[in-house]
Amino acid sequence: MIIKPKVRGFICTTAHPQGCAAHVQEQIDYIKGQGTIAEAPKNVLVIGCSNGYGLASRITAAFGGGANTLGVCFEKPPTEKRTASAGYYNTAAFHHAAKSEGLYAESINGDAFSDECKDKAIALLKENMGKVDLVVYSLGAPRRQDPKTGEVYSSVLKPINEGYTAKNLNTDTRKITDITVEPASDDEIAQTVKVMGGEDWELWIDALKQADLLADGCNTVAYTYLGEKLTWPIYGHATIGKAKEDLDRAATAINQQLSGVKGQANVAVLKALVTQSSSAIPIMPLYISLVYKVMKEEGTHEGCIQQLHRLFTEGLYTDSPRLDDTNRFRMDNLELRPETQAKIEALWPQVTEENLFELTDFKGYNEEFLKLFGFGWEGVDYDADTSPMLEADFN
Ligand code: NAD
Repeated sequence: MIIKPKVRGFICTTAHPQGCAAHVQEQIDYIKGQGTIAEAPKNVLVIGCSNGYGLASRITAAFGGGANTLGVCFEKPPTEKRTASAGYYNTAAFHHAAKSEGLYAESINGDAFSDECKDKAIALLKENMGKVDLVVYSLGAPRRQDPKTGEVYSSVLKPINEGYTAKNLNTDTRKITDITVEPASDDEIAQTVKVMGGEDWELWIDALKQADLLADGCNTVAYTYLGEKLTWPIYGHATIGKAKEDLDRAATAINQQLSGVKGQANVAVLKALVTQSSSAIPIMPLYISLVYKVMKEEGTHEGCIQQLHRLFTEGLYTDSPRLDDTNRFRMDNLELRPETQAKIEALWPQVTEENLFELTDFKGYNEEFLKLFGFGWEGVDYDADTSPMLEADFN
């Protein structure tokens, strides 16, 4: 079939296998170009390994430190008539690249929240990889079924206490309109914390500990976003922010769990960028288009892979980590520089549909969005008849 992008709202329902491979390769090349990361972990479990920050974590560990990796993700396989999801093709490309360099690389395609998935990961680790020295928790999920009760919880992206009206860019129609988001109920807040908070991170570490699969000095890290004034009403001080606060609670609890192996749990604060998860959050696409504009002009722009390389070299594996007073690694330092935020805040009220492409980097946003699904990569023939079928070797 001829595979073209089919964008519906904030999601692209098709993905290109060769384009996704090019995306993975670009990140591998970047990491290899940075040289070997000293003290890097050797056996790494990445939960949420197939896209965005989790994929970049896996690539950094494997190609920056020579790590064996076990990944967990939730991706749609291809059929003769439909392409797979991008994360499926990304994982296939990662497996191929890692194995061709002699690195162990296996992935489970399943629901990370389930006991079944954890049991499978433990069995694979016992059989093939042994104890882990880094666990990355990088899930971006809309719902979670509690493994004990079977109850299904859904996350919402809503403000807390009062409604919020703000300028919003529809990235599909390119219309800018004011949207009003009503405040979340207490139940919606609690459900969002259940899905995106730290409980499942704790369950993973507990399961690994019970199975004696945590190596001495094992690190674990979960990702968050804090942002600034413009995004606080919909992110930092909203339902998702509440869930992310729960990661701080979980990190403290996990640190106690890890004391026996002298391990460490941290939350890492990463910058805002285009991923499948962030494109679904109201206001964020316009904010990110402005972040890209300002940071590219400043020469401080970074993608997932640059952020992850810094997390390893300036956070996880250095004697002088960039930590804040709540023990979080701060990789959002460039985005949150007061002068950068001031420029973004000054541009924000001026943006209209007419000047969108001058005042913001929506062009860059959109190109990067399509690249997430394998579209727009040089060297890929998008007019060629391409089979969506590809064996990814999932467990
Ligand atoms: P993403 O959408 O690119 O990737 C999400 C990953 O989670 C994918 O690998 C997907 O397969 C996996 N996943 C989702 N549900 C799953 C399930 N039930 N079982 C197994 N795997 C599942 O997301 P992202 O933007 O890279 O976000 C990852 C983390 O980073 C999130 O916690 C997010 O809040 C955080 N973060 C994102 C940004 C941003 O701007 N994108 C900024 C800071 C922090």
